[in-house]
Amino acid sequence: MIADLHCHTSASDGALRPRDLLRRAAEQGVELLAITDHDTVDGFAELDSAETGGVELVAGIEFSTHWRGQSIHVVGLDIDLGCRSLAAAIERQQATRAERATMIADRLARLGFADTLAGARRIAGGSPIGRPHFARHLLETGGVRSIDAAFRKYLGPGKAGDVKYCWPPLDTIVGWIRAAGGVAVLAHPGKYRMTNARLGALAGEFRDCGGMALEVLCGRQSADMTRRLARICSEHGLHASCGSDFHTPGQPWSELGRFGRLPGGCRPVWELLQGLH
Ligand code: AMP
Ligand code: MN
Ligand code: MN
Ligand code: MN
Repeated sequence: MIADLHCHTSASDGALRPRDLLRRAAEQGVELLAITDHDTVDGFAELDSAETGGVELVAGIEFSTHWRGQSIHVVGLDIDLGCRSLAAAIERQQATRAERATMIADRLARLGFADTLAGARRIAGGSPIGRPHFARHLLETGGVRSIDAAFRKYLGPGKAGDVKYCWPPLDTIVGWIRAAGGVAVLAHPGKYRMTNARLGALAGEFRDCGGMALEVLCGRQSADMTRRLARICSEHGLHASCGSDFHTPGQPWSELGRFGRLPGGCRPVWELLQGLH
């Protein structure tokens, strides 16, 4: 089974429209695809009538939260798109995102970058605004030489534009996903640069508040990291998920479906997805 259970479209900070993403997934041989845009499910509306090319589609989302002072992402899989409490939660999260965008723009203004909010908003094109939209604006207006530099200097962890305390706590986010009948997955744990003890504490707390899986594979990562995450999964009774976190074509480290196979012994998260095996 080639399952890619984490990727983004233009409905959030991805480059491809949902239909084009679906086509690309089919071309890459993906059999099961979850689109997991940041704080929105708008991408699915466009796919109602789309030809899936044999790809089985799972409704998903990626929520932002924080835990012990660190930004953490949680993916929700197989969520009921008609769930009213989920719709309210998404609305709240988007309002938070809009407020946060204002705060980011204020902080960038203090560094000498005027009017970045209008620029980021234009680039987002009606989608919820995220730091990648600010990064692109800074790049396009000559403030930085690359997206990477924008994150390194102004938007990444610990930098002025890293506004993270506005998000609801972990148990709230997991509760939203569970209430919508979904499976909560701890996203890209390898990217948090945590010690084993800290990651274990996070995985334990995540499971205790209703989380059910952890991304054992996310994009390109070392075999060592994969083993480490598989171990944490089994220690905490969590299922294993996998995804590319694809945003943009032309980044070989995050191509749809290209991240290898889950290690033996992992219980794949698709066992938990209704109607799928
Ligand atoms: P936000 O949703 O506003 O918190 O922004 C987080 C998003 O920024 C992530 O989902 C990535 O798409 C992107 N991102 C984070 N760090 C980097 C980086 N160093 N270079 C490029 N994109 C990044
Ligand atoms: Mn993103
Ligand atoms: Mn993420
Ligand atoms: Mn993501």
